[in-house]
Amino acid sequence: MGAMGETLEALHRLQAVELQLAEIRSQREVIQRRVEVHRRRLLQANDRIEQLSVGSRRKQMDVDALSLDVASREASIIKHREALNNAKTNKEYSTILAAMNAEKADTGKIESQVLERMEEVQSIGNEITQIDEEKKTHTDALALAEEKLAAFDERHKKESNRLTKERKECESGIAPTTLSSFNRVADHLEGEAMAIVGKVHPKRDEYVCTGCNLKISLEIVNILQSRDEIQLCKCCGRILFVESSIAKTS
Ligand SMILES: [Zn+2]
Repeated sequence: MGAMGETLEALHRLQAVELQLAEIRSQREVIQRRVEVHRRRLLQANDRIEQLSVGSRRKQMDVDALSLDVASREASIIKHREALNNAKTNKEYSTILAAMNAEKADTGKIESQVLERMEEVQSIGNEITQIDEEKKTHTDALALAEEKLAAFDERHKKESNRLTKERKECESGIAPTTLSSFNRVADHLEGEAMAIVGKVHPKRDEYVCTGCNLKISLEIVNILQSRDEIQLCKCCGRILFVESSIAKTS
């Protein structure tokens, strides 16, 4: 292995480190996502409780206003009853009685509205209690997930630091434009920035990118075998390499 494969060899080492980092990242993401799910559910629960509370306060104000109305009507009915006792004529009596009965009927309607609103306030209260219970579940689950995440970070701290340092060292020998091609694809494909060029059939000179199965021309395979030049797969963007361009020790 001469100087022709130097860049690809460096990239290959970088790839090995990057894949380990990507594995840690993807494991961490799974736990992180769980943390986020429970955080989001808690926020949603709080929003819902806030909404319900606003509705409940509004209905309670209705209850208060209607109750006040009932009280003043009851006072009025008492007055009617007194007037009834002091009625001088039959006609006066029946007029007052009719007015009093009408007032009673209206009061009865308003009283049933009060009961209805009070039941609604009660059922909103029940719903809030239920959401509060669910919140407890999510709070516990969130705490657990956060604990797991912290434990994961603790467990992988040394390895992550070592790999990050190693990655820096691998980067040092690679041209900035090549490195940015690598990083772009690595970000995109969970660290898998390189793809080996494979032979479709052992007896035929037909090649594909093993990352995405795009056909790769013989010309490109020849370049990869003879020059220290970067070739990107035109389909998936991975940096292509052939087995012989990489030192067997890696
Ligand atoms: Zn490809």
